[in-house]
Amino acid sequence: MGSVISFIDCPHCNGKETAHDEFWYKSGEQSVFCSECGYSYQSFYKRDDDGNLVRKDESNKSLNFDNLILETNEIKPYSAYHIKTGQGFGQMGALLTEGDFRDFCRDMLVHINESASGERDGNSITYIESSRFYNGNIMRDTLYDYEGDYNRLAEFCPDPMLPELEQHEELPHKNEHWNEQ
Ligand SMILES: [Zn+2]
Repeated sequence: MGSVISFIDCPHCNGKETAHDEFWYKSGEQSVFCSECGYSYQSFYKRDDDGNLVRKDESNKSLNFDNLILETNEIKPYSAYHIKTGQGFGQMGALLTEGDFRDFCRDMLVHINESASGERDGNSITYIESSRFYNGNIMRDTLYDYEGDYNRLAEFCPDPMLPELEQHEELPHKNEHWNEQ
């Protein structure tokens, strides 16, 4: 089904055209995601597990909008995250709570430590930042920067740390690790 994609001002952080807006013009369904604050809004007709539209009155086979169930979901998360890899590909998403943010930092740290002993390639993570709407401003924080030899992920890991991280007397410094190769 056809959709129109545009960039709109974010209704949460007020970022100028920072929100990706996809609008399905035949159904009126909509999906919005702001890369700066992670805000999202979705408005879709309810579907079953097979992807078929669910009718209010199943005896009425009509798929008119008034026989469908519109579900909307708006999320104002704790923060957004942006990940870049050597190939320049990015990945972004939202972290709902501070706990989710801390879990994310732990998962990224575990991943980076595990891959530190291997060959770096285009899929290797080069940069991670968080972007958070707080006190009326967007706060961007670099969490990890391979080129800049910078890693703050451990600061934000959950307390207590995971057992596999506690085993390290100190977290391996990535350049020490990678220079060994
Ligand atoms: Zn926003």
